[in-house]
Amino acid sequence: MSPANRTALPVQGRTSAEVLAELEGFAADDPHYQQGRLWSLVYYLDEAHADFLAAAYRRFSSANGLNPTAFKSLKRFENEIIAAVAEMLHGTPEVCGVVTSGGTESCLLAAKTYRDLARTRGVTRPEMVLPVTAHVAWFKASEYFGIQVRLLPLDENLRADVKLLPRLLNRNTVLIVGSAPEYPHGTIDPIEAMGAMALERKIPLHVDACVGGFILPFMAMNGRALPAWDYRVPGVTSISADIHKYGFAAKGASTITYRDLAYLKHQMFVYQDWPGGVFASPALLGTRPGGAYAAAWAAMQHFGQSGYRDLARRTIEAFDTMRAGIAAMPELYVMGEPCGPLLGFGSRTPEVNIFAVGDQMDAKGWTINRLQRPDGLHAMITAGHLAVVDDYLRDLKDAVATVKAHPELAGGGSAATYGMLSHVPLRGLVRQKVLDLFAQMYRPGGANVDLHAVPAPEPGLKGRLNAQVERLARWYVQRRLRRQSRH
Ligand SMILES: *Cc1c(COP(=O)(O)O)cnc(C)c1O
Repeated sequence: MSPANRTALPVQGRTSAEVLAELEGFAADDPHYQQGRLWSLVYYLDEAHADFLAAAYRRFSSANGLNPTAFKSLKRFENEIIAAVAEMLHGTPEVCGVVTSGGTESCLLAAKTYRDLARTRGVTRPEMVLPVTAHVAWFKASEYFGIQVRLLPLDENLRADVKLLPRLLNRNTVLIVGSAPEYPHGTIDPIEAMGAMALERKIPLHVDACVGGFILPFMAMNGRALPAWDYRVPGVTSISADIHKYGFAAKGASTITYRDLAYLKHQMFVYQDWPGGVFASPALLGTRPGGAYAAAWAAMQHFGQSGYRDLARRTIEAFDTMRAGIAAMPELYVMGEPCGPLLGFGSRTPEVNIFAVGDQMDAKGWTINRLQRPDGLHAMITAGHLAVVDDYLRDLKDAVATVKAHPELAGGGSAATYGMLSHVPLRGLVRQKVLDLFAQMYRPGGANVDLHAVPAPEPGLKGRLNAQVERLARWYVQRRLRRQSRH
């Protein structure tokens, strides 16, 4: 067990061996992703691959891509990564782009680029159309860059409802976003239809393939039928694709590519009057981590098409097993029409509270994300999960049976909290509650707040708001339980 948190720098520095040994101890408290118990966040293969990435990272860990003219090595990594991604996404030779630190940076940059492009034609109140399932990074972009969101509802298969798109477009629309696939349910938006509308109205269309970019092309090569979503669709003007997800790079590597340089130019930042020198930057970061780019390049060279196809094959085998296994349980349903490698599932019956099922799965040592609107559980499936998918399905069946036999479980554990977070109608209060929890985590000395254990309300207005949210939550959960017991 690790000792109590340190509250200051050690006065006397410690040996590297001692520090490294202590790091091992810290890792012991983390999710057990090496054994496939974690169904989000980590794309892990094995120790040999982790060591390979670490070696590539280490060699360039001091190198800085801030100024792309200084480190020729890094610019070369970037050029070769972007060229390979452009080819993978069926772009023409005009496709160009930048390596970024992650999907969020890629999405933020696309939003900024199109806002600034629209400024050149006088748009001062920019708007963008986001499907309800667009990644939160886009909502962050909206806040950061002052671009108003117009939400595009979903059709019955949880895809962006393209019929409703025209009425959301106007002269302030700077951008339309579609996902391939979206993160919550793994469905691909109707990119071809969206592209046709975007082209007709000369509005840029960004395809967010942050999670799909390094697997969908290889699924297609393996013979999987997928709808068109990449640069072959004429209206698509840019695509984000993360290397640190299904590209199995080290964390800190994504790509943003554009159909041509005329778009990318609006991403660039130049300030010519800084006393520190004339400054130009292609992306959000100042210092850009050379290690992450080296590891990303190394991963792509190491896998190549053959390696990524093999990973995709194993991933989709696990995905198909999972999807069929869940669909075979009468109490559960798979949400929408997932193409893989992600899926969401919910409960068909009020007798089975899906969040209570999640609690049972937690107790069996799985770490699973929760979905809301509709309530559900989530799985981001990787090749490593092929070895455990049968265990997972067996435990899931057990968990469903337990919850069916004990409906009161819906009112306890984290099920109550998740029920509250997704069902309290006053969304502003939920937002406030979560902000408060985060503030707790980031106060000096940062407590590690557990969402499962909602802390006692503090005094004052905020405290009263929190107490109010909790009363509402309890009332909602109780009401749902009463309704269920009437069935
Ligand atoms: C993961 C993801 C992002 C954000 O990427 P990060 O690397 O987590 O910042 C954006 N869009 C989609 C669809 C994603 O799955």
